[in-house]
Order: sequence, then structure tokens, then C-alpha cells
Amino acid sequence: MKQRTLLCVVAHPDDETFGAGTTLIHAASLGIKTVTLCATRGEAGEIMERSGATPETLPAVREAEYRTAGRIMGVSESLLMGYRDSGMAGTPENDDPNAFIRQSREKVIADILDVMERVRPDVLLTGDTGGGYGHPDHIFATECATAAFQQIHAERDQRGWVPSKHYFYVFPQRLMRKFWESVVVAEPDSGMAAVDPSVLGVPDETVTLTMDMSVHEVQANQAFAAHISQDSPYDRMPADVTLEFLRNTSYTRVYPPESKPGDEAWLFDGI
Ligand SMILES: [Zn+2]
Repeated sequence: MKQRTLLCVVAHPDDETFGAGTTLIHAASLGIKTVTLCATRGEAGEIMERSGATPETLPAVREAEYRTAGRIMGVSESLLMGYRDSGMAGTPENDDPNAFIRQSREKVIADILDVMERVRPDVLLTGDTGGGYGHPDHIFATECATAAFQQIHAERDQRGWVPSKHYFYVFPQRLMRKFWESVVVAEPDSGMAAVDPSVLGVPDETVTLTMDMSVHEVQANQAFAAHISQDSPYDRMPADVTLEFLRNTSYTRVYPPESKPGDEAWLFDGI
């Protein structure tokens, strides 16, 4: 029997860790093969001084961080598509011809299809369509991965296989508000404190599955810390709030549709 496989498609090195880290760790702990596919090297990201990285070295530094975090999380293959980070909406990086969001949808979908055809995942995991906080690369990565998943289903007869399920990893508004409140208290002048908390996260009622991943706390914190060049949201999160996030790791099942809380206990149920 083929080893069960999870494919996680993201935009930047660290999305797979900060967004899907505990899921990857949990899957690997169950003997499931995990593969991550990242669109860019995150070259438009910030640089934390502690990393010693420069704008020139950042792509290589972030690629190394991505691979280190992958090893900590037990990821079998940490793959890159090799596009350029498009930066936040409205920044000059958006205009670079190699920017991820400037690539043709067909080309990116073809890249994802190549990987899917080779690793034949049972489950596809991506961010949600809101991009977490509206990052255009996050949204584009999710749209292209969703289209690739749908294309395989449309071609199931020729291909002879289909991925069984697609989930978004999500952060429910209730938890994001707690995080925001803790930042407002600790860093009242920070950019995060200025954000309207109602735009953070997804409506709680869209969550179809919640899992307690707190057993993976130590390993998850090691993976978070591997992204040395990046300002981890978990760095400024009080330990009790981090624990609450781990205890309420949340998903929205995209395919098969019409899932509701209590239907299933884990992404691979029924596979
Ligand atoms: Zn990102």
C-alpha cells in the first residue's frame, strides 16, 4: 500500500511553519509522508538583525531556514518553485517581472500539477482564500493549488488517481483577537496594535475541524525558531496564548464540501 501523503502548498518560507507546522509535525509522527511546496524564497520579507542576513543573502538564508524547519518538523521533501516574493500589496516588489503574482496562473498551476502527479498526495493543505492578512502571494498560492486540485479531479479518468481531500489551515477570529489583545497590551505602539482586529482570521463558524496539537509544542517552537531572519508572531505571543493556538489548531475542509464540526477528527480520517 502506498504511504499516505500530505502536500502543503504555500507562498513563502515560514508560511508552512507558522501556518501548518503542527499539522506537518503531527502527520509525520503518524508515519505520513509530508511534502511542502513553496512558491518563493521570501526575498521581500523583513530581516531581523539577529540573523545577520542582508537583502542580497536573504533568499539563501530563508531557503536554508525553510529546509531546517522542514527537518525539525519531519518533512520528507521541502520543495521550491523559485519565483520571487511579490511583497505586500502596493509595494514596488509587486512590479518585478519575476514576482510570483505576475506569473501566469497556467504556469503556476502546471508547476503544482507536476509535483502533485509525482507525489500523489491524499490530502492537500493550503492557506485560506483571504491570505491570512490579505497577502497577494498567499491568495495566489491558494488559488493555484485549488485549481490544480480541481484539474486532477476533472482528469481523474486519464490520470487514474485523485487527491481525496483539500483543507485550508485557518486562524479563527476568536483566537486572533486574543493574540491582538495581548500585542496591544505589550506593544501599544506596534503596527499590529494599529490593525483593526475584525480583519484578522476567519469567521469562527467557517472552521470545520479543530485539533489539539499541544503535544507537539516543543517541536513546534523549535521549528518556529528556525526562521531566524523573520519576526515570528509567536515571539511576541504570551505562552498561554500560544498554547491556546496549539490546542485549537483549526481547518476548513474545502473538498469534499459540506463538512461540519464533529464530522471528523483528523485530516486523514477515511483515507
Ligand atoms: Zn507568507
